[in-house]
Amino acid sequence: AMLDGGNRVVFFEESMARQARQHFELAQALQAAIEQNQLRLYLQPQVNGSGVVVGAESLVRWEHPQRGLILPAEFIPVAEESRLIVALDRWMLRRTCELIAEMQRNACPLRISVNISPRHFIEAGFVDDIQRLLESSAINPSLLMLEVTESLMIRNMDDVVAKMKTISAMGVCFSIDDFGTGYSSLAYLKRLPIHELKIDQSFIRDAPADANDALLVAMIQSIATILNIETVAEGVETREHSEFLTRFPGLIQQGYLHGRPQPGTAWVKKRLEQSRT
Ligand code: C2E
Ligand code: CA
Ligand code: CA
Ligand code: CA
Repeated sequence: AMLDGGNRVVFFEESMARQARQHFELAQALQAAIEQNQLRLYLQPQVNGSGVVVGAESLVRWEHPQRGLILPAEFIPVAEESRLIVALDRWMLRRTCELIAEMQRNACPLRISVNISPRHFIEAGFVDDIQRLLESSAINPSLLMLEVTESLMIRNMDDVVAKMKTISAMGVCFSIDDFGTGYSSLAYLKRLPIHELKIDQSFIRDAPADANDALLVAMIQSIATILNIETVAEGVETREHSEFLTRFPGLIQQGYLHGRPQPGTAWVKKRLEQSRT
């Protein structure tokens, strides 16, 4: 590789090696972070057309002792290259169920969605994990929503369908995240036990002004209505977004306009206090 390649090849190899080393170091630090309890669960509210909170999404944060709060974009891709994502998702699932249980105990139940990486979903023990989690946390299973992406569907479809049906039969709900950005097929929508579609924020951003995006949102909404599936619009940032979306009955909204992701424990505590007054 060093034959007459000039500086460029050498530089390329060095940068590859550097990147590989950085990934390795990040993966090691993340492993330690999981063990040393540096992950944090944040919650972002989901509201209905009248602004009432009807759910929340769990989003992971890494509270790094030196660097402060790190966003998932920086470590989820690295975690997904290894089995670390499984440990991370499991931690988030367990914490989510604890929060669901706490709200349920206080007669203030709320459905919470958790992101499930394809790698975790296809693991042999996934179904048993969910079963055990439901038993140990004693939550109403319908308060737990698992968010999967369309990328899961390009795998062994029969296997995915079977697993989703088993978990769905336990009462747990499924949501298709970032809907419309990946491999979308009406055929799989019909085959799978899906309760919700999340319309990707890239369609919401310009929808109030862009006729094509508006049409797309309307199309997804009508498909969901026909299939009796709920819909959530992601990335609702402005009044214009929100007003546009209230034209669609039943469409749930999630975005900075209604609330940024906040530390989950404090958010639940505040919600329980408000429910008592
Ligand atoms: P996602 O599942 O699509 O989550 C929505 C992302 O949009 C979140 O970014 C959220 O903070 C952000 N967001 C919310 N409202 C708005 C808005 O109004 N405008 C804009 N521009 N963004 C908004 P976040 O928390 O940085 O997470 C990024 C991605 O990382 C997530 O995208 C998800 O794919 C992944 N992720 C986060 N937590 C977990 C986890 O526990 N497990 C797994 N496997 N993936 C996770
Ligand atoms: Ca999500
Ligand atoms: Ca999403
Ligand atoms: Ca996304």
